[in-house]
Amino acid sequence: MRSHPGSCHCGAIGFDYRTSLPPAEWSIRACQCAFCRAHDALSASDPNGELRFVARDPDRLQRYRFALRTADFLLCRDCGVYIGAVIEIGDGYRGIINTHALVDAPADLAVTQPMSYDGEDVRERVGRRDERWMPVSAVPW
Ligand SMILES: [Zn+2]
Repeated sequence: MRSHPGSCHCGAIGFDYRTSLPPAEWSIRACQCAFCRAHDALSASDPNGELRFVARDPDRLQRYRFALRTADFLLCRDCGVYIGAVIEIGDGYRGIINTHALVDAPADLAVTQPMSYDGEDVRERVGRRDERWMPVSAVPW
């Protein structure tokens, strides 16, 4: 697996996204919810990969929940960058990254797919994330 590090602008929080998929085969989703549109966020995850979130300065980590309040969206309190999201399912965590927070954005990223998850209830939302989001081996809290 190859490591693709990511970070907020000031470096307080970040992630290590590990996948064996070449960037041209990543699943890149442009969620159309108001939060993701406001951040111009592009989500990626590899259910067969591994994701770690880190906080050099945990005091600057902001966890934000909205809508069905099932996941924590991770933002930096200082620089405001949104780096990814985490959901707790069973006794583990699954997550996504915001590809705009990658330190070295691959030039050959896959084509973006617009997504709308309006109308999902809690069971559907958690079920989709359980399938499509990726295992998170470390969270900074
Ligand atoms: Zn920051």
